Amino acid sequence: MEKVDKLIIGAGVIGLSVAKVLSEVYDDVVVVDKERSFGLHTSSRNSEVLHSGIYYPQNSYKAKLCVKGLNMLYNFARNNNIQYNNCGKLIVATQEEEIPELIKLKENGVKNGVQDLELIEEDECKNLEPQIKAVKALKVKSTGIIDTHELMQKLEKKAEENGAFLVYKMEVVSINRRNDSYQVNFGNGDIFVAQTVINCAGLHSDRIASKVGISLKREKLKLHWCKGEYYKSNRIQNIEHLIYPLPDPTGVSLGIHLTINLNSEVRFGPNAYYVNELDYKMDEKYKQEFLSAINRYIEVEADELHLDDCGIRPKLQGPNDDFRDFYIKEESDKNLPNFINAIGIESPGLTSCLAIAERIKDLLN
Ligand SMILES: Cc1cc2nc3c(=O)[nH]c(=O)nc-3n(C[C@H](O)[C@H](O)[C@H](O)COP(=O)(O)OP(=O)(O)OC[C@H]3O[C@@H](n4cnc5c(N)ncnc54)[C@H](O)[C@@H]3O)c2cc1C
Repeated sequence: MEKVDKLIIGAGVIGLSVAKVLSEVYDDVVVVDKERSFGLHTSSRNSEVLHSGIYYPQNSYKAKLCVKGLNMLYNFARNNNIQYNNCGKLIVATQEEEIPELIKLKENGVKNGVQDLELIEEDECKNLEPQIKAVKALKVKSTGIIDTHELMQKLEKKAEENGAFLVYKMEVVSINRRNDSYQVNFGNGDIFVAQTVINCAGLHSDRIASKVGISLKREKLKLHWCKGEYYKSNRIQNIEHLIYPLPDPTGVSLGIHLTINLNSEVRFGPNAYYVNELDYKMDEKYKQEFLSAINRYIEVEADELHLDDCGIRPKLQGPNDDFRDFYIKEESDKNLPNFINAIGIESPGLTSCLAIAERIKDLLN
């Protein structure tokens, strides 16, 4: 039986950020993950976009932690030689009827404290991106892309340099509250007794919460898995900005967008559909949906699109639900002191990772 002060469950970008930040102030920080290495789930299956914070309701965690986290992440990348590109993005209106929504989006961004938002006309849009069809666009200068693998590698290294331990192939199977601590039992028979537990288990974070006795139904914390696939184009080149349509009005996704990676390769996605199984298999069932969505803003043919990758969003917002924020909370009011849950950390979780970690540090004080 191991005694641990701060136990973090999950070595995705959130658990690693928490480990980095907590290990700067606490001596005994341990991260466990069921996989053989860090970031094998959502953190390596996303668009790698550093979001500005424009989309989310004012004062929500998503808005505040995204705006704050974006600056923290650019600084962290700069100081640690992590590859990134502050390329900016264009959110495009492809028909006159979409313009009022574009203006609303700008106003929402201003309220959230997003700097340097600019509405541009068709001509200027053509100048910036000759291949893109738009009648107007919102230029978001602060948006960028980052190498998430390098980011996670660096977070792990920093945490280890500060004295934290990361232990892989350790699956949490049950958690029992014992006096003033938590007994955490692993699939391999190991047992840790932790003073503080921080649940950063991504797609399984609701299950970890239920293992400690939290009712997912009563607290409305059941996660809904929402899959998204990506297609690559091997023809389109010379795109310099990320290109986004207006977001899906249901709030489920930001719409099938065009991203470039750090090698300037073009990718489209993700689409969004709810699933019951954690399965990263893909087929071309949704190709037509992709073609219709993409052809609104750039010409593509079916034979130039190739399935690339997919990810699964851990969403608190189920089908037909309204907006749900990140759930980041210390659970003393449920008689679980020093148990912190981070649940529903979907997009913009990557962008917000360091700000989420700071928030979790504050919850411990
Ligand atoms: C398709 C898609 C696109 C996205 N695009 C963007 C984007 O462009 N920009 C952005 O900011 N965000 C984006 N996101 C969101 C972002 O990827 C996530 O918010 C972030 O990666 C979540 O990180 P995490 O550490 O919480 O989860 P994960 O990376 O899933 O890590 C959780 C870890 O917990 C471990 N774990 C689970 N259960 C247990 C257990 N019982 N015992 C031990 N370990 C366990 C898992 O093995 C895993 O390693 C996107 C997400 C998706 C799905």
